[in-house]
Amino acid sequence: MMTVMLRKGRGGGLAGNAPRLAPEPAGAELPRLSFHQMCLTFPDGTEAVRNVDLEVRRGEFVSLIGPSGCGKSTLLRIASGLLEQTSGEVRCDRADIGYVFQDPTLLPWRTVEENVQLFAELHGLPKNERKARAAEVLELVGLTGSEAKFPKALSGGMRSRVSMARSLLLHPSLFLFDEPFAAIDEINRERLNDSLLKLFGIEKFAGVFVTHSIAEACFLASRVVVMTSRPARVSAIVDVPFPYPRTADLRYDKEFVEITKHVSRLLLDSHLGSRQEAGRS
Ligand code: ADP
Ligand code: MG
Repeated sequence: MMTVMLRKGRGGGLAGNAPRLAPEPAGAELPRLSFHQMCLTFPDGTEAVRNVDLEVRRGEFVSLIGPSGCGKSTLLRIASGLLEQTSGEVRCDRADIGYVFQDPTLLPWRTVEENVQLFAELHGLPKNERKARAAEVLELVGLTGSEAKFPKALSGGMRSRVSMARSLLLHPSLFLFDEPFAAIDEINRERLNDSLLKLFGIEKFAGVFVTHSIAEACFLASRVVVMTSRPARVSAIVDVPFPYPRTADLRYDKEFVEITKHVSRLLLDSHLGSRQEAGRS
């Protein structure tokens, strides 16, 4: 497996020199994703990310929460290589990433099974292996029996499950989620969260999950990272010290509810702090 370090000097623009690649040093299990003093300013001058430090290892699930437009999606795009940071370091294995978006983007002319096999086809996996893996992941996301359905016959929750299964098929060690359940009603969202934690228990990937829901952020994560308004900076990190596997009734645990209140207050402080800063400048 190859991990590359993508380093840019301060002041280098998006159109600057190619990022420096360095081999992964030998040693213990390394973070699957690490950002060090990472910054991104878009070519039009919009500063989206400032000095972000973050490390996520296998078996860790990190939720990112912050105001709309602060730069959360930008962080995931940088991790996946869709965008390049302006300065700082990014370390991750781009060939080994799963990425799930809010819009499941299923191909309407393909069945559930054919949609799930899409990335595996693009990776050139043989047909028999694709079929076996598709059956395996469809069972994991609770869609066995729906293989032959077309996307138009699926609910929003089922489409999200197909989208997760499609990435899961390649067993990525780093899984990025960009508000995948934002458009789904509360009850189905909780079910999807339960399924996602089940997958996490089996696959033990490194998870990074962007959400606006404080309850969802805390229920899924071992760490919740609270971001400031744009430019996104890490405002606070909250540990959620409940072991996995977690069950649905954790949501009603007194200590868990206290943590969600704490995150809620931090988020509010972070909003207010950013506003005051903007007022001064
Ligand atoms: P969010 O936290 O809601 O996911 P984004 O990461 O999508 O926020 O965007 C962060 C900020 O960067 C927003 O203000 C957005 O308008 C801006 N932005 C996103 N893409 C570009 C771009 N290509 N050029 C300039 N500004 C951008
Ligand atoms: Mg976003």
